[in-house]
Amino acid sequence: MSRQYLGQNFLIDESILEKIASLFKPPGEFGEIGPGHGELTKYLSKKYSDFTVFEKDKNLVPLHKTLKNYRVVEGDFLDWDFNLQNKQIENFSFIGNLPYEAGTAIVKRICERPSQVVHFLFLLQKEVVERLCAKPHTRDFGSLSVLVQGQFDVEALDIVRPEAFNPAPQVMSQLVGGFRRENGAHPVSSKYNQFVQSCFLHKRKTFRNAIKSKFSKEKIDEVFQDFDLKPTARAEEISVDLWPALFKAFQDG
Ligand code: SAM
Repeated sequence: MSRQYLGQNFLIDESILEKIASLFKPPGEFGEIGPGHGELTKYLSKKYSDFTVFEKDKNLVPLHKTLKNYRVVEGDFLDWDFNLQNKQIENFSFIGNLPYEAGTAIVKRICERPSQVVHFLFLLQKEVVERLCAKPHTRDFGSLSVLVQGQFDVEALDIVRPEAFNPAPQVMSQLVGGFRRENGAHPVSSKYNQFVQSCFLHKRKTFRNAIKSKFSKEKIDEVFQDFDLKPTARAEEISVDLWPALFKAFQDG
């Protein structure tokens, strides 16, 4: 039985499962988010003898507890404290055919912990992958693109059709890989994240109009002049690596 509220679209195409497992090259310890019945886990088990799986569905947990080469963390991944066996994880990687409902939230959660996470390989709704990997001046470029690309170098990989799953989802899926940026990663703070999100909130507005209720006219004029921004500039025209400096400029003074 599939629980739709847990995003249970199980992968049934063995060639795709095998491909995902072969693309995954964690440099150290790793975990699989949402192992389900072990569709992907069985391929990972062939290659690795010590890893962790994170499963929210209580009914699926016992199945994993009988197996010896990995441990199970039971519960919502979003509530997990990045601690394993009483130690904070370090340089950890994640893989998973993520539940659609929680996919974006899981990616955001990982981006809040870049010093602990070195790599991810996820299967997500294609539209979400397009937003994660979008470049400035495109329709999909938004706060999710800035927040994820601020921490990880991301790459959109294979597209997976609905027939590869049971039950088949209504939408296309796509693999996305990310490696932690070694230089120039963005600040990790909820204030920074909120700033970026609020600037993209009204995508039809100019950047100036989107922020005018938050900062004084003088401050906005000063920052626009310092950054050489046109009055008509929109948030989606501002490149990923300009955001931390813009944030800092708006906080200063
Ligand atoms: N790994 C299997 C596969 O590839 O077919 C199952 C993937 S299925 C799309 C998503 C899995 O994530 C399900 O097993 C579901 O119960 C689990 N799940 C859903 N929300 C979760 C959450 N917040 N934390 C951990 N697991 C979750």
